[in-house]
Amino acid sequence: MNVILYIIIFIIGTIIGSFCGLVAYRVPRNIKIFERRSYCPKCNHELNFVEKIPILSYIFLGGKCKYCKQKISSKYLIIEAVTGIILVLLAQTFDISVYSCSLNSFIIFVFAVLYFMAIMIISAIDKEYRTIDKKVLLFGVIISLIFMIYQYIINSTSIYSYITYISIYIILLVVDTFLLRRYAIDSYIINVLMFIYIILSFSQVIVTILTIIMAFLAIMIYLVIQVITQKRSIKKKISLKDIPLGFYIGVCNIITLFMTNLFLQLAK
Ligand SMILES: [Zn+2]
Repeated sequence: MNVILYIIIFIIGTIIGSFCGLVAYRVPRNIKIFERRSYCPKCNHELNFVEKIPILSYIFLGGKCKYCKQKISSKYLIIEAVTGIILVLLAQTFDISVYSCSLNSFIIFVFAVLYFMAIMIISAIDKEYRTIDKKVLLFGVIISLIFMIYQYIINSTSIYSYITYISIYIILLVVDTFLLRRYAIDSYIINVLMFIYIILSFSQVIVTILTIIMAFLAIMIYLVIQVITQKRSIKKKISLKDIPLGFYIGVCNIITLFMTNLFLQLAK
């Protein structure tokens, strides 16, 4: 029975992944998320039900639009498959089962899904545009704040740690609104900090530190490969402006979270 449940969770995951791909496409282009049904960006043809089935439609259509033969980016296939796998791993982590499932673990599962949606969308937009979108960031901040309130109600531990958390959020927001925007300073770095802060509110401190170290290593490897393949001359100054930090941090956070969880399970 659990196998069927996990298949259903995987399918739900691919649908959520498909939605994340849609948001990552529409938000930076200033298209309203629910404005109209999914369509081909080249020939404007609206997709029918069968053409919208995640993963399978991509495979059957051979990664092309049925009408104008425009190539569909494999990015969407990757987001759908990865989200499906993430949901299954999360369900397993939080012991979601047909036989026994506590309300608490189900609620945390839902929070985790929302968190991963924010991570996926922020990373996907940053990869393509090297910007961290404020609206998606706000979505992440809101779910992390609601998650903190929930944790406080459940654990009823010291309120001070939560107050500290929220105060730092407010400081980051104030710096962004009153300093950077007023003097038109690029707010990318403050957005990255805000993104790391969202990660910190869902991951443990050690996981967050590992995430940053891994992201740093990944960027180093990327730069070394670029130098070797001579796409980037060593003499040319390496500019921070070309590197999508949010993308590296997001992807490394997903990997680190599941790796540490795997180690914990093996250590049991
Ligand atoms: Zn088309």
